[in-house]
Amino acid sequence: MKKIGAHVSASGGVENAPLNAKAIGADAFALFTKNQRQWISAPLTEESIRKFKENRRERFAPGCILPHDSYLINLGHPETGPLEKSRSAFLDEMQRCEQLGLDRLNFHPGSHLNKCSEEECIAIIAESINIALSKTKGVTAVIENTAGQGSNMGYRFEQLAAMIEQVEDKSRVGICLDTCHSFAAGYDLRTEKAFTATFGEFDRIVGFKYLRGMHLNDSKKDFGSKVDRHESLGKGFIGIDCFRFLMADDRFNGMPLIMETPDPSIWADEIRLLRSFEK
Ligand SMILES: [Zn+2]
Ligand SMILES: [Zn+2]
Repeated sequence: MKKIGAHVSASGGVENAPLNAKAIGADAFALFTKNQRQWISAPLTEESIRKFKENRRERFAPGCILPHDSYLINLGHPETGPLEKSRSAFLDEMQRCEQLGLDRLNFHPGSHLNKCSEEECIAIIAESINIALSKTKGVTAVIENTAGQGSNMGYRFEQLAAMIEQVEDKSRVGICLDTCHSFAAGYDLRTEKAFTATFGEFDRIVGFKYLRGMHLNDSKKDFGSKVDRHESLGKGFIGIDCFRFLMADDRFNGMPLIMETPDPSIWADEIRLLRSFEK
């Protein structure tokens, strides 16, 4: 059975996220463990950690939860000062996952800001991952593919493979593929043939063994636009068939399948729709 959910609110405390996920009928979820638009957040309190574990226990195994890091972090920053700031903020995010008993952290790899080459940026990102892994235990760094907007890296499977290649502990690095980002980056998913070809290419270049989660989003922008704008399932340029193929494909079993679609009021319906596509 597939583990399906959405990126739910953790406002009022991380302990509310599993309750919000349960309320929409999810059996997976994503959350921010701190305010995603601020560099510094107060540490998690003992009480918050205890309640989070209590609230998630009956329904959500750690492997069904895919926390997402702050949007401010750029682990590929070409300048020393801002890179250090990002690396320490990322370490804090990894440590929050450790405290909450979570086994993976999803993040956008980073941007070269037109100040270094793509290859150099990939090396900086890999080194950032190595540093974070050396200072933590039990949490896998899950690199998300991007739409290739601006100078964001990770929009080609080859780039994701190159990052993994330079990570020392391969047992704690993984990938999250976002359907909207893939499509915007030029990987077609609209027909069965295109879906098969895209994931065949992913398997060949990166490998399904590294896949630790998926983001299920339709796209407000057309194929190859390199623009990252999510749409509700079936209402964008990808269309509903992609999600039908995905739900019938065993390669996506046992990992968090997370919607980041723009209308939380229909998440429960979207989850029901996805479940109806299961074999
Ligand atoms: Zn995403
Ligand atoms: Zn996105």
